[in-house]
Amino acid sequence: MSNEVKKTEVEKLKEKLFSAPKNAALRLSDDNISDADKFCEEYKLFLDAAKTEREAVSESVRIAKENGFEKYSRAKKYKAGDKFFYINRGKAIILCTMGTENIENGVKINAAHIDSPRIDLKQNPLYEDNELALFKTHYYGGIKKYQWTTIPLALHGVVIKGNRDKVIVNIGEDDNDPVFCITDLLPHLANDQMKRTLSEGIKGEELNILVGSRPFRDDKGSELVKLNIMKYLNEKYDIIEDDFISAELEAVPAFKARDIGFDRSLVGGYGQDDRVCAYTALKAAMKCDNPNKTCITVLTDKEETGSDGNTGLNSSYLKYFIFDLAKSQGAEGTTVISNSECLSADVNAAFDPTFPEVLEPRNCSRINYGVVVTKFTGARGKAGTSDASAEFVGKIRNLLDDNEVIWQTGELGKVDMGGGGTVAQYIANLNIDVIDVGVPVLSMHAPYEITSKLDIYMAYKAFVAFFKE
Ligand code: MN
Ligand code: MN
Repeated sequence: MSNEVKKTEVEKLKEKLFSAPKNAALRLSDDNISDADKFCEEYKLFLDAAKTEREAVSESVRIAKENGFEKYSRAKKYKAGDKFFYINRGKAIILCTMGTENIENGVKINAAHIDSPRIDLKQNPLYEDNELALFKTHYYGGIKKYQWTTIPLALHGVVIKGNRDKVIVNIGEDDNDPVFCITDLLPHLANDQMKRTLSEGIKGEELNILVGSRPFRDDKGSELVKLNIMKYLNEKYDIIEDDFISAELEAVPAFKARDIGFDRSLVGGYGQDDRVCAYTALKAAMKCDNPNKTCITVLTDKEETGSDGNTGLNSSYLKYFIFDLAKSQGAEGTTVISNSECLSADVNAAFDPTFPEVLEPRNCSRINYGVVVTKFTGARGKAGTSDASAEFVGKIRNLLDDNEVIWQTGELGKVDMGGGGTVAQYIANLNIDVIDVGVPVLSMHAPYEITSKLDIYMAYKAFVAFFKE
């Protein structure tokens, strides 16, 4: 005889009719959990190697080549199973695996972004003030400025010299490298500063990066600290001050990605919005062999500043790529695009018990509850969002269930609390069905963001399932 307690009518009915989300750690097998943990070991290395959009492109190319991808050629007629990548100005990349079906049936697109909030140098950055050398900056993306002071910063980017040569800069990542830092006031003298609002606590023009303090040892003169720094830069990179004008130098947190928690269940690292989705999308693209539909992964730039610019998804580069591909297959580009489907792979805000008031607990995403499906983003009365149709949500929901992907629904904050957007709307504007699917994040846009290993792995599984279908 079984000693199982018999379920009451109410319990049975509730089980059948009520939605009952459950922590993925309670739903997954030990093997699944260790697969997720293993998956995230490489993910952390990716975060360390790809702190800027340019580095994310280089890393993606390296991984793609290892997996048999070749450089895209516009003149070539590709056949089923062919794998290739197209690079847009070194800051965005499209990876493609040709499907067996006629391309006119549409393509599958997975779109993530590889730019993250950071501190850009101005075009005339270097100056000396009271015998300290500093860089003037202009922040990139939505940041809480006070979070970026008194942390170690690394400098990444490129400088185009007067002779048009390109110099690649990456300083502050190696343990032997120096790092840089934005200073803040000591509390003893911060009485006035402490009265400012949090958004003004550190102002944009106060985000000055300390880069040196020893003067050039020679004759009397002014700006000897600046001269000493410029001399160092000239010796190391062969650049002069004017070369900063044609440079893109980005200060990013110098921390490495680490496990967080005694149980090592979480990943802490810079730039997880949206490299957590970019990496999982990339890995899914590497796993996509001989798909039915042609599968396209786009890792784009400029999402954090609104997707404008020729490396952002509000430009035509993805459309042109698909049109060219269609043409090479003898198909009509507009037909291909109109029959296509897309996952906009981007992060959502995870419920934070320290700040429960900004999220609506019945409709927000939670750490360890799986990949988040976000029907709409935007602000106020759903402004600035594409709002996926019920039909498309239904399709994706069933796809995830059929492939044993643990998922949850999530809304970005309470109504009228604020809001935000993703690339989804720009893809929808091309007449493509699109929905946001991604990983919940704690401390989004902070120098150190937190995600869950199980959610990361579920995002990967979701993207694999989408391409496999
Ligand atoms: Mn994002
Ligand atoms: Mn973001």
